[in-house]
Amino acid sequence: MKPARLGPEAILFRGNDTRVEVVQEESARRHALVDVVNNRIRVRVPTQHVVDVSAAMESWLRRQAKADITERLRVRGKEMRQHPGRVYVMGQRTKWGGCSRRRNLSFNWRLVMAAPEVLDYIIVHELAHLAEPYHSTKFWLIVRSYCPDYDRHRRWLREHEDLLMGAKGGSVVRRVADGRVTFACWPRCILLPSTASKRIQSQWKSTPGMATPLA
Ligand SMILES: [Zn+2]
Repeated sequence: MKPARLGPEAILFRGNDTRVEVVQEESARRHALVDVVNNRIRVRVPTQHVVDVSAAMESWLRRQAKADITERLRVRGKEMRQHPGRVYVMGQRTKWGGCSRRRNLSFNWRLVMAAPEVLDYIIVHELAHLAEPYHSTKFWLIVRSYCPDYDRHRRWLREHEDLLMGAKGGSVVRRVADGRVTFACWPRCILLPSTASKRIQSQWKSTPGMATPLA
């Protein structure tokens, strides 16, 4: 059976606009499967069951974030000779990362949407807090020595904060021709069984995006 395509969209993933394709397939599974094929994120949903695409996308993005963060912590931790206690990947709405008195670090999974060098800056920032807890002159000297371009990454995060912090697993980000970014959601964040797919397709196209001008 030829899979039914419910509609392509795009999400900011590791700094790139990446197309997301939702594909229906015959399967006894009761959940969506997410993977990357030809630089596109593919979400495979079974025709027989109602599936929450939003939840599947978010848990997949969280797993990618965790893998990226673990790898960069390993590399940067060695360079900076700083070794954290526990590491948490969280969904804080207000911050990109944190460092506790017990030397535990936390990171926001939404950083996986930013370019790798931006994520890397937050890694360096939190590791630097293990040496210097306050945002002192000494702290910023440490950050600069391991991440000379940190100011550019800070600015990028400030400019895109609303966009990234507003992201749920099912939210999609699309940059349109005039330099604006549109922000839309999967229709109701749920896919219905195949009989409803035609209706969903038309809903999808008519979902109005909330336009946010780029700073
Ligand atoms: Zn800090």
